[in-house]
Amino acid sequence: MKELDFMDPPRSAYLHIPFCHRRCFYCDFAVVPLGDKASATNGPGSESIKSYLKLLHREILLAKGGTPLSTIYIGGGTPSLLTPIQIKSLIILLRQHFGLQCGAEITLEVDPASFNENDLEGFIEAGINRISLGGQSFDDEFLKKLGRRHTRDHLVQSCKWLNDFHENGFLSTWSLDLIQNLPGQSILSWKDQLNQAIDSFAPHLSIYDLTIEPGTVFALKEKKGELSIPNEDIAAEISYMTSYMLKDVGLSRYEISNFALPGHASRHNRVYWSGRGWWGFGLGATSSPWGKRIKRPRKRADYQKWIEIQENKDIYQSINSDQFKFRDLDELLIVGLRRREGVSLDELYTSCDWDKNKFENNLNALKLCWKESIDRGLLKFCGRRIYLSDPEGMEISNHILVQMMIWWNSLQDVVDEPILEELQ
Ligand code: SF4
Repeated sequence: MKELDFMDPPRSAYLHIPFCHRRCFYCDFAVVPLGDKASATNGPGSESIKSYLKLLHREILLAKGGTPLSTIYIGGGTPSLLTPIQIKSLIILLRQHFGLQCGAEITLEVDPASFNENDLEGFIEAGINRISLGGQSFDDEFLKKLGRRHTRDHLVQSCKWLNDFHENGFLSTWSLDLIQNLPGQSILSWKDQLNQAIDSFAPHLSIYDLTIEPGTVFALKEKKGELSIPNEDIAAEISYMTSYMLKDVGLSRYEISNFALPGHASRHNRVYWSGRGWWGFGLGATSSPWGKRIKRPRKRADYQKWIEIQENKDIYQSINSDQFKFRDLDELLIVGLRRREGVSLDELYTSCDWDKNKFENNLNALKLCWKESIDRGLLKFCGRRIYLSDPEGMEISNHILVQMMIWWNSLQDVVDEPILEELQ
């Protein structure tokens, strides 16, 4: 009998707080810009925030409670636009509805210039024990180019506060986000950014490649030829340098975009990459309880209607059933190969509805699709695990996943046939 742990009730919850002061030039998230003077207490945007929180509370109560959470992630948007009291009321509601495991990891995303030291103290008092700081760059020129509201000074000050709270034992850990391969970025200027990130003493770094999303200011600029993104060779060198420089100071890469000192990896994010289920609440949020992805509308009015419909039909009851007993392996491979430890073949086997023979045949077919990447040492098979080499394999993970998708799509066409024989 296969053991399917993703069939267990979720033990992680993501809450989306969509409010930001303004929309950054590269961002296509579900956000509601409230203006530079926005304030959650009585200022501009406060009523909008309060009425959204009521909706969010209603949505949380729709989920089946009773299984204590081990991680909560309050992301956005800019959740630090909320007051500590508002953050506390969300945590209390989750605790009352689901329960909270002892030592649960509770993360809040914050943006420099959207909070001060008192707010931070209030967030910690509310129950937050991990902070994720959206720094993006230590360079004022780049921050301006990205359309960010904060400056380098704000970022340096925020890092200092976070370090103080961490060193004094009030925060379990904190993380800093940076974006690499920005328009006009050179290898030398990125090296300087990395050095400043190292000097910030952040025990965890999330480093993302800039992606140009349709409908953003950056997409428009790119179309007009006004964005000079580093070419492939420079981008690869920047990415290699990130991996090597951070490894040298003990920040090891445990996922394509994430680096941590021992004991500081994000427990919440690991849930996404492991294929286990999670609750997701809020505008534009995705949840995946019992392996079934549910996306919420990205527009406020549509989200409100969506909640009203769910209140009358019990969406979760309909998906907590045997019809989602098995998982699509393409999805498990896409998320699982992001991790340093990769994917366990046994885990893949227990997640699919193939018998042993069919699994091994299909796996051999996958190895054929991946032959070139395996021969070049970009993708490694070790015992019963597959993983990407760091940094070479991780750098071209998209290419390796495209090869996997070719395999997966071929299985959908001839799903009952032994694929290996067909390819031979
Ligand atoms: S602060 Fe973050 S979520 Fe808000 S617009 Fe900028 S990138 Fe998007």
